[in-house]
Amino acid sequence: MRKDIHPKYVLTTITCSCGNVVHIRSTVENLHVELCSKCHPFYTGKQKIVDTTGRVERFRRKYGLSAHPEEEGAEA
Ligand SMILES: [Zn+2]
Repeated sequence: MRKDIHPKYVLTTITCSCGNVVHIRSTVENLHVELCSKCHPFYTGKQKIVDTTGRVERFRRKYGLSAHPEEEGAEA
Protein backbone atom coordinates (compact mmCIF):
# COMPACT_ATOMS: atom_id res chain seq x y z
CA MET A 1 0.00 0.00 0.00
CA ARG A 2 1.25 3.47 -0.78
CA LYS A 3 2.01 5.69 2.17
CA ASP A 4 0.95 9.28 2.81
CA ILE A 5 -1.76 9.46 0.16
CA HIS A 6 -4.70 9.41 2.53
CA PRO A 7 -6.12 12.71 3.79
CA LYS A 8 -6.56 12.84 7.54
CA TYR A 9 -9.98 11.75 8.68
CA VAL A 10 -10.82 13.79 11.74
CA LEU A 11 -13.74 14.40 14.07
CA THR A 12 -15.60 17.38 12.65
CA THR A 13 -18.19 19.72 14.03
CA ILE A 14 -20.79 20.92 11.57
CA THR A 15 -22.57 24.01 12.78
CA CYS A 16 -25.79 25.14 11.16
CA SER A 17 -27.06 28.72 11.18
CA CYS A 18 -30.16 27.47 13.05
CA GLY A 19 -27.92 26.44 15.93
CA ASN A 20 -27.94 22.74 15.27
CA VAL A 21 -24.58 21.08 15.73
CA VAL A 22 -23.63 17.74 14.22
CA HIS A 23 -20.51 15.77 15.08
CA ILE A 24 -19.19 13.50 12.36
CA ARG A 25 -15.93 12.38 10.88
CA SER A 26 -14.68 14.11 7.78
CA THR A 27 -11.54 15.20 6.00
CA VAL A 28 -12.61 18.82 6.55
CA GLU A 29 -12.66 20.41 9.99
CA ASN A 30 -15.32 22.71 11.42
CA LEU A 31 -17.88 23.15 8.70
CA HIS A 32 -20.59 25.78 8.75
CA VAL A 33 -23.83 25.32 6.84
CA GLU A 34 -26.94 27.42 6.37
CA LEU A 35 -29.43 24.59 6.26
CA CYS A 36 -29.60 21.20 7.89
CA SER A 37 -32.19 18.49 8.32
CA LYS A 38 -33.42 20.21 11.50
CA CYS A 39 -34.37 23.47 9.84
CA HIS A 40 -34.84 22.78 6.13
CA PRO A 41 -38.45 23.53 5.05
CA PHE A 42 -38.73 20.06 3.58
CA TYR A 43 -38.42 18.59 7.06
CA THR A 44 -40.08 21.30 9.14
CA GLY A 45 -43.07 21.86 6.84
CA LYS A 46 -42.75 25.59 7.44
CA GLN A 47 -41.78 28.19 4.92
CA LYS A 48 -38.41 29.70 5.47
CA ILE A 49 -36.48 32.04 3.25
CA VAL A 50 -32.74 31.72 3.44
CA ASP A 51 -31.63 35.25 2.82
CA THR A 52 -28.09 35.61 4.03
CA THR A 53 -27.30 38.49 1.69
CA GLY A 54 -30.41 40.50 2.55
CA ARG A 55 -31.77 40.55 -1.00
CA VAL A 56 -35.34 39.72 -0.04
CA GLU A 57 -35.33 42.39 2.63
CA ARG A 58 -33.93 44.95 0.17
CA PHE A 59 -36.62 44.07 -2.37
CA ARG A 60 -39.37 44.43 0.21
CA ARG A 61 -38.03 47.77 1.42
CA LYS A 62 -37.79 49.06 -2.13
CA TYR A 63 -41.49 48.41 -2.68
CA GLY A 64 -42.55 49.73 0.70
CA LEU A 65 -43.30 46.33 2.17
CA SER A 66 -42.50 45.15 5.63
CA ALA A 67 -39.16 43.39 5.85
CA HIS A 68 -40.72 40.65 7.95
CA PRO A 69 -44.13 39.68 6.54
CA GLU A 70 -44.49 36.69 8.87
CA GLU A 71 -44.61 39.03 11.85
CA GLU A 72 -47.69 40.83 10.53
CA GLY A 73 -49.73 37.66 10.62
CA ALA A 74 -52.37 38.65 8.06
CA GLU A 75 -50.55 37.50 4.95
CA ALA A 76 -50.65 33.79 4.35
ZN1 LIG B 1 -30.20 23.98 10.59
